[in-house]
Amino acid sequence: SDEREVLTYELFGGAARELAQQVADDGFEPDLILSIARGGLFLGGALGYALDVKNLFVMNVEFYTGVDERLELPVVLPPTLDAVDLTGARVLVADDVADTGKTLELVRDFCAGYVSDVRTAVVYEKSRSLVKCDYVWRRTDAWIDFPWSSQPPVRTRSARPPH
Ligand code: 5GP
Repeated sequence: SDEREVLTYELFGGAARELAQQVADDGFEPDLILSIARGGLFLGGALGYALDVKNLFVMNVEFYTGVDERLELPVVLPPTLDAVDLTGARVLVADDVADTGKTLELVRDFCAGYVSDVRTAVVYEKSRSLVKCDYVWRRTDAWIDFPWSSQPPVRTRSARPPH
């Protein structure tokens, strides 16, 4: 449908705090936060401050190429995460949205072989997601406009003057 869910930077700040509170109330104390780039970097950074976790990691996964257009499977892009960093750790995976859930499934399964506990935090979870996330701010089935990706990349305003 044409229905959209719009997240603003203003709302995102409160969402991140509320998610951090869910994690704390649950008694989960992650050793590290693993953001799924690029959409999960914002939540990962905000949770890092709110939960006082300084150990932040990034995994680059590509799946979507446009509104509801995706590749056949999510793929991990280089550089790949060093398994040594994850061994025995309590990991909190941060992402913007669990839609099909295939991205989070890939990351969770990647971690599962090394870590002692892996949990997932997302701003949004859709009902079709095959991963049921541990910490969720809102549920929707609409396409979501995130503040960081709702505008096209900037372009140069003008060429440098010659000299
Ligand atoms: P999934 O693997 O759960 O289907 O989704 C993976 C990624 O696709 C999300 O982390 C997000 O970057 C992108 N994505 C999925 N659904 C939406 C959506 O409704 N809006 C936007 N902007 N991106 C989405």
